[in-house]
Amino acid sequence: MLPWKNGKKTKSSDMTVTPAPGSERSVEIPVNSQLDKALESLARILRVLGRQAFELEELSEETIEKDFERWAMHVLVGTSIPEEAQGLQGATVRRDWGELARFVSAHRQKEKQYVTKNLQDMREVLWEFTRTMGKAVVEDQETDEKVSAYLSQLQDVTENGSFADMKQALSSAVQGLKSLVQERKQRQDQRVHQLGEKLRSVERELGSARKQMMEDPLTRLFNRGALDEHLQRLASLSFFSGSPTCLLMVDIDYFKRINDSYGHPVGDLVLQQMADRLVSTFPRKADFIARYGGEEFSVVLSGTGLELAQRLGERLLDVVRNQEFVCQDLSIPVTASIGGAELLPGESVTSWLERADKALYQAKEQGRNRSCMAKETCSGG
Ligand code: GH3
Ligand code: MG
Ligand code: MG
Repeated sequence: MLPWKNGKKTKSSDMTVTPAPGSERSVEIPVNSQLDKALESLARILRVLGRQAFELEELSEETIEKDFERWAMHVLVGTSIPEEAQGLQGATVRRDWGELARFVSAHRQKEKQYVTKNLQDMREVLWEFTRTMGKAVVEDQETDEKVSAYLSQLQDVTENGSFADMKQALSSAVQGLKSLVQERKQRQDQRVHQLGEKLRSVERELGSARKQMMEDPLTRLFNRGALDEHLQRLASLSFFSGSPTCLLMVDIDYFKRINDSYGHPVGDLVLQQMADRLVSTFPRKADFIARYGGEEFSVVLSGTGLELAQRLGERLLDVVRNQEFVCQDLSIPVTASIGGAELLPGESVTSWLERADKALYQAKEQGRNRSCMAKETCSGG
């Protein structure tokens, strides 16, 4: 029974409701139990709202879930809000319905603003893209016309002009074409830069709005499906974003032996502890960590060149070497190997993955417990 009545006892005659006239049987339902059910339903609704919340700019999903959970507990047993108001917890059953309504309403408004802003950003990018492409077509047509004019001028003097005329026409055509090419290049660079700026901001928003249903249940990292989607998106945007992106494939060495020696459940624990080390080594929000499959993980580092990616990979290997993997007082020796590759301009996801995988294979071949970057020399372990 929930303490809904401020501690006062109520006579049993107060505690019934009679069903509406016309219902077949007149069953009396205790008011107390009706209210308990209402409070439980409200608490359940609050929990659902917390669990299904969007991640907002200033609030993580975890914080939002915790806030809603606190309100759910407030509704259920009257714990105080905020949580920090110690000493009152459980002692009072007065609920602050007004504050609850304000909390839900303020949260909903924040969500609405967030979604509206992101939609607006997306619209702007689309608009910018359409406008830029339209302008590019017109400008390129104008350039083509100028090129044609130079060529027909040249043709004219070749057929009718003197050698001196030809020389002059040729030199002015070369100058003219050169500056046309330069102008076109400048325009393209500028367009790519402008679009890149816009896309980067949208990319950041998209990055935080992904999650949910894309989680690997054992490690709680992103799963393979989420990784594929993320890589695809990065590969499509890379032409415009202009900043490097690296992929690290991390594979536990001789993992089969760990399973064989300590059992599958211990193997599972090792996978979970490896996930913790990955998360602590790559804490940036922009870093994308996924379980690729089995005992293999992927880390996607946006805005990171190959050299830095290799250093970060080495840091992970150090953490794996030096932080003990422990299961029920057992210390399990674990090492890992890493293969890395930077996304090349215009490269497909398949080729990017293949190059990282090949580098991983090299690291294994060279003795494991080391990292190896595609097209780079390997570092010893
Ligand atoms: P290498 O150093 O070449 O990577 O050797 P390895 O033993 O790590 O690689 P191998 O591919 O031979 O074995 C991987 C093992 O991982 C085999 C499979 O049973 C085990 N494995 C895959 N998924 C899970 C899992 O979810 N839990 C556990 N405990 N084991 C798993
Ligand atoms: Mg392995
Ligand atoms: Mg493997």
